[in-house]
Amino acid sequence: MTQGNMPLRAKVATQVSRTAAALSRAAGRGDGSVIGGWIGLKIDPDLLEHLAAGRAIALVSGTNGKTTTTRLTAAALGVLGPVATNSFGANMPTGHTSALAKAGDTPYAVLEVDEHYLPQVIEETRPRVIALLNLSRDQLDRAKEVAMMAQLWRTTLAKHPEVAIVGNADDPMIVWAAGNSPTVSWFSAGQRWQDDSWVCPECGSTIERQDGQWWCTGCPLRRPAPQWVVEDDGVLDPSGAWHLIRLQLPGRVNLGNAATALAVAAAFGIRPLQAVPTLSSVASVAGRYAQVDRDGRNIRLLLAKNPASWLEAFDMADNAPTLLSINARDPDGLDTSWLFDVDFSPLRGRQVLITGDRAYDLAVRLDVNDVPFRHVQTFGEAIASVPPGRLEVIANYTAFQDIRAELDRVN
Ligand SMILES: [Zn+2]
Repeated sequence: MTQGNMPLRAKVATQVSRTAAALSRAAGRGDGSVIGGWIGLKIDPDLLEHLAAGRAIALVSGTNGKTTTTRLTAAALGVLGPVATNSFGANMPTGHTSALAKAGDTPYAVLEVDEHYLPQVIEETRPRVIALLNLSRDQLDRAKEVAMMAQLWRTTLAKHPEVAIVGNADDPMIVWAAGNSPTVSWFSAGQRWQDDSWVCPECGSTIERQDGQWWCTGCPLRRPAPQWVVEDDGVLDPSGAWHLIRLQLPGRVNLGNAATALAVAAAFGIRPLQAVPTLSSVASVAGRYAQVDRDGRNIRLLLAKNPASWLEAFDMADNAPTLLSINARDPDGLDTSWLFDVDFSPLRGRQVLITGDRAYDLAVRLDVNDVPFRHVQTFGEAIASVPPGRLEVIANYTAFQDIRAELDRVN
């Protein structure tokens, strides 16, 4: 339904939600989407459902790449008309509510969804398509949740055969989670991080891998043939046509995110030839991949919040001086022993600087990996320590926010 046709309570809730978000923004408290959505849902607990009705919606979920894939997908669906999206990464129902309230009557929406909330958001938004990216450990204290999350998704998706799935063929957890869905379009971009999927979620046997394939040694679960495949610097579509993908975002992982966006767009009837040119419009995503010039240094920010994304960041980073920053505040997870799950040896030969609340944990880890480094107290000291040219910055969540703040909240 359009917002004009909503029940009175929902209309009021929508207006209050917008106003609260605007006031919060004006007060300099971020983009206001969490508080706006929270107030709207207090007034009308069914507000998300009302706001979603009548829109064709795609949801994007998984441990890594949600925000970027959501941005790329929203760009691709823009071919059809105006698209509502929660592009600031407010990925819980409060953020979705706020995004839809703020957008007004758009025919389309692309929403990034926190893994834990996917079942609830499916019920409330009735999506047409869901993209499932991967499931890996996010914070060590939550590691055993990977299998539980896959089970939760599998149970939920079995109840929604009407939803088309775009799924990652290289992640056994995703393949199993989508195993009961009748309509799945598989994509493949390779899987660098495999330590959370050595054990079959169906039968508990070992999963074997060879030449990009994987299969369970105890049951029929195996890698499905993907329809969308990252190859060189482009993507093969289901017809076998190859499309060169020009992105402003670095790394093979973002080509995989682009392939996902193309597959979602195809589920909405958009041909790759229409969607591909839109992808190059996406530059930085909430400051990630942003490049800032300061004192002759070109600083690039890479967010790495869990072991899988650290490996991806090493792959994306140029062979240039690199600053690593680690905090262990609440949003990061308090336990830094995950550092020992990551192989830091790709950094050998680069000038490495470390900083952050938990720089000394990083120091121990780098020492074990024989990577020389220097500790710096501030970001300014880091800039002064490297020659003019590229400085790569790889940081976990709150460390990333600290550095963004130092760089005047770059976008
Ligand atoms: Zn099995």
